Formats: sequence, C-alpha cells, structure tokens
Amino acid sequence: MDSRLEAVYVEVMRRNPGEPEFQQAVLDVFESLGPVLDRHPEYTEAAVLERLCEPERQIIFRVPWVDDSGRIQINRGFRVEFNSALGPYKGGLRFHPSVNVGIVKFLGFEQVFKNSLTGMPIGGGKGGSDFDPRGRSDGEVMRFCQSFMTELYRHIGEHTDVPAGDIGVGRREIGYLFGQYKRITNRYESGVLTGKGVTWGGSLVRTEATGYGTVLFIEEMLRTRGLTIDGKRVIVSGSGNVATYAIAKVHQLGGRVVACSDSSGYVVDESGIDLNLLRDVKEVERSRISAYADRRESARFVPDGSIWDVGAEVALPCATQNELDESQALSLVRGGLLAVAEGANMPTTPAAVRVLGKAGVLFGPGKAANAGGVATSALEMQQNASRDAWTENYTEQRLTEIMVAIHQRCVETADEYGQPGNYVSGANIAGFVKVADAVLALGVI
Ligand code: NDP
Repeated sequence: MDSRLEAVYVEVMRRNPGEPEFQQAVLDVFESLGPVLDRHPEYTEAAVLERLCEPERQIIFRVPWVDDSGRIQINRGFRVEFNSALGPYKGGLRFHPSVNVGIVKFLGFEQVFKNSLTGMPIGGGKGGSDFDPRGRSDGEVMRFCQSFMTELYRHIGEHTDVPAGDIGVGRREIGYLFGQYKRITNRYESGVLTGKGVTWGGSLVRTEATGYGTVLFIEEMLRTRGLTIDGKRVIVSGSGNVATYAIAKVHQLGGRVVACSDSSGYVVDESGIDLNLLRDVKEVERSRISAYADRRESARFVPDGSIWDVGAEVALPCATQNELDESQALSLVRGGLLAVAEGANMPTTPAAVRVLGKAGVLFGPGKAANAGGVATSALEMQQNASRDAWTENYTEQRLTEIMVAIHQRCVETADEYGQPGNYVSGANIAGFVKVADAVLALGVI
C-alpha cells in the first residue's frame, strides 16, 4: 500500500483495536486510493482520510425491556453517525446477537461511500443492537423497539439522521420504531425512517429494491461481456429481504436459482427455488429453511457444509459479512463461475476477492451492487418531503436508472484510473472523491 495510506491505516488500527470488520472495510477502500492521492495532494494536506475514518458521532445506550415471562432484559443499542458531508446520515439498523460497535462502524464506513456512489444527497451512518428477534413474540419485539426508540429518537430526524432496516429489521420493526417516534415527538415525521409500509408513508419497491438492484447490477456487468442472466444457473445465499427479491428478479430475467440458505444450513432445488413457498416459510411463518425442503419434493436440506459448493455460473451472496471465503471462491471458480455481485455488505473475504480477480470472474462489490436499497430509501424520502406517492412502474424505473448509472460510474472511474473492469476500484474511487470534495468544501468541522 502507498506509504501515505499506510501511515493513516496504522493509526486506524491503533485507534480501533478489536474491530477487525471495521479495519477490513477501511483497508478495502484504502487499497484503491493510491492513484487518487497522486492526483489530489490536497486530500492528504487536509487530512481527509483521517477525518473520513473517524465517525462524527457514536452513540451507545442501554435498552431495557420486559420479556413475555416478566423478566427484565438488557440489550445494547448503537448508532454511529459516520459522515454527513453529503446529507443527513442514512443507513440501516441491524438487530442480531453479533452486533457490536466494530460491526456498526464497518457498516457505517461502507455506507458513506455507497451513498455517495448513488448520486443522492445522503451521508452515511448505521446502527442496531445485539437483540435477537428470532424466537421472540410480536409483543416482545414491539417492547424492545419501543425501548430502543425511547433513546434513539433524540438523535435522529428527517434532516439529521434517517435510519432504515437491515438484518433482523424489516417492515414490522420499522412500524414499531416509527410508532414510538411519533408518540414521543407528537410529530408525523414520515422522513425520519425509511422502509415504512406503503399505507403509512413508505415507497413502493423499497422492500424489493436491494435484491432487485443487485440483479440489475450484475445484468449490467454481464452485458459488458455480451452475456445476460437469462438461462444462467444461480446461487443466492440467505433467505431474508435481500435474498428473496434477488431470487425474484433472477427468475423474472430468465435465470434459475438452485440454492439459498439461512443460518441453519442451505437448500438445493434443481427445479428452481419456489419463491412463494420460501416466503411462506421465512416471512410468514418465520421458520427455519429446512421447512422448505420438507414441503418440496425436488428440494433437499443440507445442514452443514457450504452453499458455494453447489456450483453455479452466477453467485449472489446476500446473507452477511465474510460468508464467502478463499476456498469457497476456488470451488466456485472450478464450477464455472462467471460473475459475483454482493447483495450483502462485505460478504466476500479479501482473499476470495483476489481469487475471483485472478480467475477473471466479474466482481461487483456491495458498495455498488446493493446500493439500490439505500437509493430507493432516498426516493422514499423524496416522496415524504413532497407528500407524494409514486407508482410502482415509475419507482422501479427510477431504481433501474440509478443502478445503470452506478454501474456506468464504476466502469468510467476504473477506466479513468487505469484499471478497466475493476469494479472494486471504480466504486471505491468514485464514492470517495465525491465525499472528499465535500469534506474539503465544508472546512474543518
Ligand atoms: P434479513 O434479516 O432479512 O436476512 C438475513 C439473512 O441472512 C437470513 O436468511 C439470515 O438467516 C441470514 N444470516 C444472517 N446472519 C447470518 C450469519 N451470521 N450466518 C449465516 N446466515 C446469516 O437481512 P437483509 O436481507 O436485510 O440483509 C442481508 C444483507 O444485506 C446484510 O449484509 C445487509 O447489511 C445487506 N443489505 C441490506 C439492505 C436492505 O435493504 N435490507 C441494503 C443493503 C445491504 P436467519 O434467518 O437464520 O437469521
């Protein structure tokens, strides 16, 4: 790595010990930035890198609530307001037992560059809790969300910080969070949260946007090689919000998804994943994915091993960070892999990214490939601000245009910096330069 970047990275490691995911996310961006600093010495002089690696504000709070048996439970809540040079902090809330400040910082850091890449006026932030909604009743989830918002409300607002969903936070949780915000503030401030239900201020296509956008992005990547997703064999990891709508879009475009997963294992269904059944199992019943195989003759459930061993031409990791490692990447390459797009945030380890690069596999990083979700959140904010509700067709058309534009921005930036076809560099550099210029323009604040 360039010595100017290395000096800052060493300092980031020293200041953020025990946060390997955050350090990994910073390294991923820094590895692309050498040529940018050569062209823009003003970034180094004005300590832009140092400023971008330090969140503007980090909030950690206690979340007490009472479970169904009357016992008091204590969780920890987080909101990291990373950078607001381009607009209000924007980024989801994650409820998962693995959540800690390092995870939230990695997600918030990535979000800054992703949001910049969308071209929309939004800064970056992220939050969440180590609360695990799995196995909890609706009443418990509601009481937890109300307690979480009882502290969070004082830090957010439509012009300040606008949270949304992420792992473990979907329409149900956003409803409870919005309800409590409305009650405490006595304001129907629709723009304070995105991912709302369409009857109470949400946008059509927001639920589908991340998964749809990821597939639209990989379709654009394939097109650069004269290919399409039509007829391709596809693996999608996960079976939550992003995975579900990635599967839907692959099927709409003529591809066949043969495997998907949750944290208990994966299912293989050579006749193509039946989306209605998957949604019944995961969304409606909130069951484990093995229930899918129990009800479908063509499917089998595999409780251990790796979904990536199933083999496919297209792989869409849509579950969580570092879920596709080097040996799994090698296995995919041996199976004839053509392209990967990250529906999840940082699901591919750095060593796996190198394997894919060496093998000439098209690789779309999450900052670009899954940006359709936050971009449609920004469209939801636009509709809220104008008290309007757009049609499904119009909103999906806007999403498509945004994904095509992000792809174009990545390709042009990679070309401009002498790395044609390198979507990682294209996304990192394009996202970085826009935020860096705004940071410079706003002075030392
Ligand atoms: P959901 O909670 O809806 O689904 C998550 C899925 O991933 C579930 O199938 C879950 O399995 C599985 N999963 C979660 N953690 C693990 C783990 N540690 N090991 C194995 N499987 C796991 O979340 P989303 O679909 O919203 O988010 C998925 C990814 O996409 C995340 O990386 C998120 O940051 C990213 N993302 C989401 C956006 C959005 O709009 N929602 C926007 C951009 C990125 P189980 O059911 O067993 O828990």
